[in-house]
Amino acid sequence: MIVVMRQNATEDEIHGVIRVAENADLKVHVSRGEERTVVGLIGDVRRLDADTIAFLPGVERVVRILQPFKLASREFMPSRSPVPLGGVLFGGDGDEVPVIAGPCAVESEESMMRIARLVAGAGAAVLRGGAFKPRTSPYSFQGLGEPGLHILAKARELTGLPVVTEVVSPQDVELVGAYADALQIGSRNMHNYALLHEVGRQPKPVILKRGMMSSVEEWLMAAEYILSAGNTNVILCERGIRTFETSTRNTLDLSAVAVVKKLSHLPVIVDPSHATGRADMVVPMALAAVACGADGLMVEVHDDPASALSDGPQSLRPEAFADMMRRLEPVAKAVGRRIAAPPGRKVAGGHEWGDQRDDEHSGQSPQKRAHGPASASECAG
Ligand code: PEP
Ligand code: MN
Repeated sequence: MIVVMRQNATEDEIHGVIRVAENADLKVHVSRGEERTVVGLIGDVRRLDADTIAFLPGVERVVRILQPFKLASREFMPSRSPVPLGGVLFGGDGDEVPVIAGPCAVESEESMMRIARLVAGAGAAVLRGGAFKPRTSPYSFQGLGEPGLHILAKARELTGLPVVTEVVSPQDVELVGAYADALQIGSRNMHNYALLHEVGRQPKPVILKRGMMSSVEEWLMAAEYILSAGNTNVILCERGIRTFETSTRNTLDLSAVAVVKKLSHLPVIVDPSHATGRADMVVPMALAAVACGADGLMVEVHDDPASALSDGPQSLRPEAFADMMRRLEPVAKAVGRRIAAPPGRKVAGGHEWGDQRDDEHSGQSPQKRAHGPASASECAG
């Protein structure tokens, strides 16, 4: 149930509503918008007589939320919520589309620095790289762990870009949060409720990937765990779902972007790398994602995909990434948006950090080079 307060409601009136709700053992979430305050009441609202609330001073109206997800719903928050990540804004009413890029895993300081410099030069707004890797096989590279976090912090220092990295267990949330600007919950952990609760109790924004076999409703319920634990900064990430189709690693469900935007006020971004598993499919799907309204992209980039320790086959080479950034601009413009410039810079697309276009004239097309030889190492199986 949500209680929409009148525009000029006083603090005393807001607290009057909170008191009545707490007396009925309900959890209260107060959301203070520019125009009015909305008080969300979570729990068994049957304990409460809606009329008792409706006639309290300062109350404009009471709305019952019919969706199973409450705080994530547009009924609770009709306007889009912007989520700040470092100095970068995702979602909200703005027109910016930030691009997150970097290797699947942090492999070594040298390679992370090289790749970070290249993606920053091409206009990425946020760096990515996994220090803790959830791998399908226990024999695959599991990530560098804490030393990987130190390397990410150095990459942030080098480029000035915020960093996002995955956290795979509740015990590591504090550690990862001490280094990263945002925590990623991976597809395999979307149903890990202890982990969702833990990232909900800390202040860093969370990128919540869709479970590979989860419905949109289940995904939004996972977001609800984080929101109800107190963290309102959740960015949803569509990364493909399992279907009968075998020509791509997963099936990118772009309709989920439109569905989520109808149902929820949270930003939704798209990861075309894990969705397709193929570098040659990443760029067209990234363009399509921006065209259909995604609030951002997350793309894997590696400067030597053949020897990547994970997800080489789906990693764009840096030249192909720079090319993608340039091709995204007109698509974003066509739908009334623009690719977000990295924090502290005016434009995205590789215009300010050296000209990546030299690579285009090396004789091989960026798309061709982007394919990269297949590697046996993948995040998932
Ligand atoms: C990743 O981003 O490297 C990753 C493991 O993604 P997902 O959880 O979507 O498979
Ligand atoms: Mn990966």
